[in-house]
Amino acid sequence: PKASRGVCGADAHAIAGRNYLRMVAAGTSAHSDHAREILHVLHGASRGGNYQVRDERKLIKLAGEWGVKTEGRDIYDIAHEVAEVGLLEFGKPFGTQLFINRATDERRKVWHEQGIEPRAIDREIATAMHMTHMGNTADAEALVRQALRTSLSNGWGGSMIGTEITDILLGTPIARETEGNLGVLENDMVNIVVHGHDPAFSEMVVTAAEVKELTDYAKSKGAKGINIVGLCCTANEVAMRHGVRMVGNFLQQENVVLTGIVEMMCVDIQCIFPSLPQLTECFHTKFVTSSPIARIPGSLYVEFKTDTAFEQAKDLIRMAIDNYQNRDKAKAYIPESKQPATVGYPCEQIIKELDGVTNSHVDELGSYRPVVDVIKSGVLRGAVAIVGCNNPKVRPDYSHFEIMKELIKNDILIVATGCAAQLAAKAGLLRKDASSLCGAGLQRVCNLVGI
Ligand code: SF4
Repeated sequence: PKASRGVCGADAHAIAGRNYLRMVAAGTSAHSDHAREILHVLHGASRGGNYQVRDERKLIKLAGEWGVKTEGRDIYDIAHEVAEVGLLEFGKPFGTQLFINRATDERRKVWHEQGIEPRAIDREIATAMHMTHMGNTADAEALVRQALRTSLSNGWGGSMIGTEITDILLGTPIARETEGNLGVLENDMVNIVVHGHDPAFSEMVVTAAEVKELTDYAKSKGAKGINIVGLCCTANEVAMRHGVRMVGNFLQQENVVLTGIVEMMCVDIQCIFPSLPQLTECFHTKFVTSSPIARIPGSLYVEFKTDTAFEQAKDLIRMAIDNYQNRDKAKAYIPESKQPATVGYPCEQIIKELDGVTNSHVDELGSYRPVVDVIKSGVLRGAVAIVGCNNPKVRPDYSHFEIMKELIKNDILIVATGCAAQLAAKAGLLRKDASSLCGAGLQRVCNLVGI
């Protein structure tokens, strides 16, 4: 830089701290908005409606945790009140996030002492934006502290609420077999890609594609059927709940279109390249946006509404089927690469797998104890989460892959989601025989548990 300070006197620490906090606020707003949206869907859920309560047990448990009365009440009354409590987590004027009660006492003590217990989600975002507005905080440490508080409101607020409510509405995932990579596209089927992050929309598309009237319609147009595939974080949602195959991750979205055999790409929010309208124009592919949060010039905009969601999804599928005949065979190319993968490990599934190796005469079932024990005894050296995005500044997937291989070789268990999980699928790391790449300790655990 030409000068050590900006025109107002802010130094590099203040400028970097402010930029960092703004990025954290943006990420929190996006990820926590998933929760807000899905809470609204729960609030409108009804018996026989487009969205229904699929995991009543989880709803009752959450109602108990949030102090919502359950006895003698209709499940939908409970669901609507739970949704209201969840929505208040965004704007309540007093108190901290309800889910921080799930953290250990030690952890909560640290947050309390540091003054970073997360308050209402929207408040943390507003505070972050205000602190970084012209002429406010220039103290880098205070900026980082607010970044921690804001991200805690996402992790222990928005993201956790989003996960719970999505499971309640769409069902808690279970382990299932699927496949990953571009080779999951089918030459003789109508290929529809669901892309983005909001599972409410993709769920409808996947469900509608199973309707016989539509599969018959696809056959009447010369296709063998309808092939729905997932891209980006939406891929994980539909893979874990329906076994829908994963065509790729963030930096592969253009490659998917380049195969020339995608009849329609339906997107919701986040990680959508604005290049897609121009690219799809070079092929027959229809590019459909569905959310006011992600409007892209050149797309076909069909605003998704929960009360008409199923009919909208059916209309889109019909449109994709009609488009099948417009494929230009000269432009078609499907890479053969794909790998089998086992996915779908929420807490419930992990505990179920661990129950399989628990001696019920000695230890209690339904706990993480077996995995804690192997970490304590040194058979495993720990567990890490790889939650994550791809970065175009480095070769796609390269760093995720190298880090994952090194970790499992060193007996460290990985829990992965997002693009990292799709990379793991593409690279064959979600196959059961990938245990051969693990260190001796992790390999023994995988073989014993059967993962
Ligand atoms: S993991 Fe990151 S880059 Fe990948 S789809 Fe999700 S948010 Fe986007």
